[in-house]
Amino acid sequence: MDTKKSKIKQYFQKNESLSIISGCLLICLLIFVILTVIFLSGYENALQGIQEKQISYNNLEDEFTNLNSQYDNLKRRYDNLQDEINDYKDQQNLIDNLNNELLELQKNYDQLSAENADLKEQISELENNNDSGSGWHLPSAVSSSNQTSGDSDSGGEMVWLSETGSKYHSIPDCGNMNPNNARQVSRSSAESQGYDACSKCW
Ligand SMILES: [Zn+2]
Repeated sequence: MDTKKSKIKQYFQKNESLSIISGCLLICLLIFVILTVIFLSGYENALQGIQEKQISYNNLEDEFTNLNSQYDNLKRRYDNLQDEINDYKDQQNLIDNLNNELLELQKNYDQLSAENADLKEQISELENNNDSGSGWHLPSAVSSSNQTSGDSDSGGEMVWLSETGSKYHSIPDCGNMNPNNARQVSRSSAESQGYDACSKCW
């Protein structure tokens, strides 16, 4: 046993350089292990940070989606309001057009009213002229002056003719006339047939 120990001691003593190298290796290994531990812990930290960032990224993405849909809603409402505004503008234009038409109609109405007043004035003037003896007759004046009955002859006053005789009379029983046989004709037609006015009743 002692011999073996001394043999190893001898071996180490003989190979001093070997022991130095193995010591160096040991130190290197230690450093490597320490570095690995440091690296791993750092990596873990970094991984945790990445996960946190991932979560906050996901949150931001959700928020972005929400804002996007809100924006879409607002955009739609804005479009709707724009359409309504356009509708209102169209209606306003229609109202303006109708107002213009109304103004024009009002103007026409005023003009026609003025013409109507002018015509009324002319009619009353003509009626006055007619009353004062001009030859111009309104239809109403003609029909009121033609009220004698019987003969269908028109134009001028009516006279009476006896059954015999060459005179016309203003009454059906002038002198010895038999009123039952007297007939009525217009004065012009009596004169055109050669009758003369009776000197008693004319
Ligand atoms: Zn007579």
